[in-house]
Amino acid sequence: MASYTDTQIEAMKKDDLRYFLHPTSSIVDMESWGGPKIIEEGCGIRLKSIEGKTIIDCGAGLWLNNVGLGRTELAEAAKQQMEKLSYFQTFNGYSHPLVIETAKKVAGMIPMDNPRIFFTSGGSESNDTAYKLARMYWYLQGKPNKHHIIARTKAYHGVSYGAVSATSLPGFWDGFRPLVPAFHHIEHPHCYFCPWGKEQDQCNLECAEALEEKIIELGKENVAAFTAEPIIGTGGAIVPPDGYYQRIHEICDKYDVLFIADEVITGFGRTGKMFGMLHYGVQADIMMMAKGITSGYIPMGAVGISERVFTPIKSHGIFMHGYTYSGHPVACAVALKNIEIVERENLAENARVVGEQLRSRIRDLSLPCIGEVRGIGLINGVQLVQDDAARIKFGPEIGFAKRVSAIAWENGLALRPLMDDGLQLSPALVITETDVIELVDKLGRSIKQAYDEFL
Ligand code: PLP
Repeated sequence: MASYTDTQIEAMKKDDLRYFLHPTSSIVDMESWGGPKIIEEGCGIRLKSIEGKTIIDCGAGLWLNNVGLGRTELAEAAKQQMEKLSYFQTFNGYSHPLVIETAKKVAGMIPMDNPRIFFTSGGSESNDTAYKLARMYWYLQGKPNKHHIIARTKAYHGVSYGAVSATSLPGFWDGFRPLVPAFHHIEHPHCYFCPWGKEQDQCNLECAEALEEKIIELGKENVAAFTAEPIIGTGGAIVPPDGYYQRIHEICDKYDVLFIADEVITGFGRTGKMFGMLHYGVQADIMMMAKGITSGYIPMGAVGISERVFTPIKSHGIFMHGYTYSGHPVACAVALKNIEIVERENLAENARVVGEQLRSRIRDLSLPCIGEVRGIGLINGVQLVQDDAARIKFGPEIGFAKRVSAIAWENGLALRPLMDDGLQLSPALVITETDVIELVDKLGRSIKQAYDEFL
C-alpha cells in the first residue's frame, strides 16, 4: 500500500527537482523521468518506493549495508547513546568510553599488527587522512620529497580533493582541475579485458610490474605510497589475478614505498572474509575503512595506522589533522553494535557462500550478452558484452547496462550500471539463497528484454 497519493508523489518529485542537487546523478535523466525514484522504507535487502512497490536492493545502497535495513538493535544503540552523550569532541585530549571501545575493537580485527585507529565521517575523509599520514611519515624521516602517491586506473577513492586525485574514473576530474599534485596512476589489473592483451596462461603479472616501472620513472626517493582497493569496486568489481598483491608488496618493500589499502567497500565481511587483504596474506601500512563499519546506519569512517607509520608521529608529538565528527559517540555506538551483528550472524561466511550461488546462477542464465561474471563474496560485477568470445563491449553510445537497469527497476530491482557496461551486484550480506533465486530471475528477464530490444 502506498502511503502517498499520486498528487503528493508528483509534488514531492517536483520539489526534489527544484530544491535538491543530487550527488553523481544525471539531472537530464531525472527530469526526463519526471523526478527521482523515491524510496520510503527498507527492511533486510528490500526497499519500498513511495508508490508502494517492493524492490530488491542489488547494491546494498552504495556497497555499504552489510547487516540489512531496518535493524532495531542499531536504532536502539543510537537512541541510548544520544540520550547519554549525544556528542563531545575528541580533539584537545578529550575522549569518551565508546570511542575507546570502538578503536580497541577495530584494532583487534584488522589485518595489521599493533595498529592505532583514527576516525573520520566517511571514505573520502579516510582516504585523505591516509595520504596525509603517508606524506607526514616521510616528512618526519627527513624525506619531504618522498610525497608522490601512485594509484590505479579504474580506482574510486572518493571525491574530496585528495581522494578524487587518487580516483581515476571518467568524469570525476572534469571541471575540477587542478587536482592535488603528485598523484599518479598505473594500469589496473583486469584479466578479462587485459590491458596487455594477454590470456591468463601468458600472464607475467604485467599489471603488478607496472608499479615497479612507475616507481623507477618517478625515482624511489620521491614515492611515498601505493594505494589500491583490494578488489576494485565502483570501477567494476574486479578481482586481481593470483599473486598480484604478493608481487605488489614485494615491490613496495624493495623501493621502501608504503602500501595503503582502501578497504572502504571490502571491510567488515563483504568479500567473504572480514577484510579484503585477508585473501592475499598481505598487510597494509595504512588501511582505510567506512561503509560496512556502521552498515550505513550513520556516517563513519576509520583509518588503521601501522606501528611503523605511527612511531614517528608519536615522537613528533601530534597529528595535526581531525574532523569535528572524528569518533562521534553515536557513530561509535552504532559501529560496535553493527560489528557485533556481523560477527554474531557470521555474515562474512554468508557472503562467501551466497556470493558463489549468485555468480553460479547468473552464469547459468547463459545469455549471449553476459560476458564475465566476476567477484568474490558479495562484491560482484556482471559484464555485458556484444560478443563474449571476442570481448567486444556495447560501447557508451548504446548505454546497454543503463537500459538493463531501467527495465530492472520496472521488474523490482534497484540495479546500478557500472562503467563499461558492468552491473553491480553487492546486496546486503543477509541475503539468502531464496532471495538470490528471485533476484537472478528478475535480472535474467531484464537483461533478456534489453537484449531483444537491441537486436
Ligand atoms: N573508497 C572506496 C573504495 C569507495 O568505494 C568509496 C565510495 O564509494 C570511497 C572511498 C569514498 O567514500 P565516501 O563516499 O564515504 O566519501
